[in-house]
Amino acid sequence: MKRKGIIIVVSGFSGAGKGTVMKALTAKYKNYALSISATTRDPRPGEQNGREYFFVSNEEFEKLIKENGLIEHAGYVDHYYGTPRKFVEDKLNSGIDVILEIEIQGALQIKKQYKDAVLLFVMPPSAKELEERLRGRGTETDEVIRQRLSRAKEEAEGIENYDYIVINDKLEDCVERVNDIITAVHNTPDRNLEFINDMRRQLNEL
Ligand code: 5GP
Repeated sequence: MKRKGIIIVVSGFSGAGKGTVMKALTAKYKNYALSISATTRDPRPGEQNGREYFFVSNEEFEKLIKENGLIEHAGYVDHYYGTPRKFVEDKLNSGIDVILEIEIQGALQIKKQYKDAVLLFVMPPSAKELEERLRGRGTETDEVIRQRLSRAKEEAEGIENYDYIVINDKLEDCVERVNDIITAVHNTPDRNLEFINDMRRQLNEL
């Protein structure tokens, strides 16, 4: 039976460490593809075009939207972010799971379009820890940190839209929990209808 790839949406407050968790997950388990988003924000020190993001202008982003080149997009703290369609659809068609590390508006758009997508929300152990991680990163101004914490408050209201929460306390434990969830999710009846129906047919033929 051909395994079907699914979309795994991973959201979490800015600073919750979801990027680090996904990097560690995809380094350890080679069966996941990590989607690279397009964004209009500037690269942070150390970020490379085509690796963390495709860094594009407003005009280029609007062109992508117009050409139906994105499967979702959203505004986040004064910038656009979106998921390129082709990479995701190619991987799914090849039976590979694709991870989208996106915020909540985009997550809801994905849930509407891809019924078997799984939505995970990565949480820090506490709000204080979140603030410390954001400040510790040292790449954002106080104003941007304040905006991101206020956005976290808004996002916390939407967590019930997700299928699972994962607490990022210890990195390795968190990576294992995410992999366990995805493995389990592949085994639900609704994601294996072809196999189940084939079994029914075989039983009828006995
Ligand atoms: P950052 O600027 O910290 O890299 O990302 C800001 C927020 O945008 C994060 O919550 C991140 O998950 C989200 N984000 C990144 N790429 C996308 C995308 O393609 N679509 C959506 N909707 N959100 C994204």
